[in-house]
Amino acid sequence: MSDASKGLRLYNTLTRTKEDFVPIDPRNVRMYVCGPTVYDFAHIGNARPVIVFDVLFRLLRQLYGEKHVTYVRNITDVDDKINDRALRDFGAEIASGKLSLNEAIRRVTEKTADQFHKDVAMLGCLEPTVEPRATEFVEPRPDGRADMISLIQRLIERGHAYVAAAEVLFDTASMPDYGQLSKRNLDEQQAGARVAVDAHKKSPGDFVLWKLSSPEEPGWNSPWGRGRPGWHIECSAMSAAYLGEVFDIHGGGLDLIFPHHENEIAQSRCAHGTETMAKVWMHNGFLQVEGQKMSKSLGNFYSINELLETDIFGGRKWPGEVLRLAMLMTHYREPIDFSVRKLEEAENTLRKWKRAADLAPAAAQQLPAAMVDALSDDLATYAAFQVLTQLAGEAAEGNDAAASLKAALLFLGFDVGAAKVDEGEIDKAIARRLELIAAKNWAEADRIRDELLALGVQLKDGKDPITGERVTTWEVKR
Ligand SMILES: [Zn+2]
Repeated sequence: MSDASKGLRLYNTLTRTKEDFVPIDPRNVRMYVCGPTVYDFAHIGNARPVIVFDVLFRLLRQLYGEKHVTYVRNITDVDDKINDRALRDFGAEIASGKLSLNEAIRRVTEKTADQFHKDVAMLGCLEPTVEPRATEFVEPRPDGRADMISLIQRLIERGHAYVAAAEVLFDTASMPDYGQLSKRNLDEQQAGARVAVDAHKKSPGDFVLWKLSSPEEPGWNSPWGRGRPGWHIECSAMSAAYLGEVFDIHGGGLDLIFPHHENEIAQSRCAHGTETMAKVWMHNGFLQVEGQKMSKSLGNFYSINELLETDIFGGRKWPGEVLRLAMLMTHYREPIDFSVRKLEEAENTLRKWKRAADLAPAAAQQLPAAMVDALSDDLATYAAFQVLTQLAGEAAEGNDAAASLKAALLFLGFDVGAAKVDEGEIDKAIARRLELIAAKNWAEADRIRDELLALGVQLKDGKDPITGERVTTWEVKR
């Protein structure tokens, strides 16, 4: 095992095996996860990848250092579903000329993106390092970062794309090993395609890179006329913009393997002439609700916000951290059945853990190694939670188990109220300690220092550069 691997093993959809993870550059571990299309409230199925890859982000930061991980999660703010929603919500204003479609679209996407940010913050997720919006990566950029039009141009130049019937299409037959991720071959796809609909395509599996817009639709000027990008090309552009042509981890839900991720790979590899787009492809499993596929027609379609703020699910509101734990109690690659019982179980578990963690005034400096090991085994959250339950059993007033548990819960994104610090009391304690030091009562002075440390307050002694007097400052350590 090389030093860079840090013992982390991840299941790679590309090879269908669990592999040692060795970053391309351990000083900058790079991960891309497909983000939301912002036309409606995010549903709880959307919450799963956000939570799962948040845990991976936290683990990578733990293993490689906070400054050495770049996590990009995009926002898709150009999509025909968004246009439809803008027409539905602002149709009258658009018809009367009060609002242009583009302005209506901006209202829909901004409101939805704000809501998404609020929702995922409630779920205890860290913000990604960068959150690019697709509309900002359509045209060539002043900063020279990758953009969609330039990528499409390069695909045409290299013989991987063609213009037909007012569209630019990717030529799947131009890529001999197209289909590696989903393990589909072109013949299989052709057998299932509706040829009549796709008469302008060279092969039925060819997909849209660019399509023309009507004057009312959102559009950008391009060498192929005023139009808008297909969905897949945006992730190829935004990942290249921030992570380069080849990066470490690409994640998303299982439903994205085909066609979205397959087509991202095709575009990126053919445009850049690389063997791979990302080394490791990770996919979280499907989510069901009370044993059934979530769908609007079944009436079991729930947004994150509905679970947080209404009593629509189980007759009560659910705290974000309960949703978070419930989501993580099932291994990320397994299908999950989201149910009221599961949420109740998560809430009980969390209550026990928190009660035990509260026995420690401050979190330990080190995370429990057994938990880190479990997470390093392809995010074995269930095994990691067994470690937490064991620590909770061993926890007692002020002991190491309680402090370790507190550190573990904070690391995993659960709020265990870090030591509440009363600044006035600290200043009094520091003044008292300085008096004791002046009186050479070292034992009593140290006792005060240790008491503060147990509350998570670390003292630093220094000298005033002018008077030469002893000066004590403090900071909160977690
Ligand atoms: Zn994507």
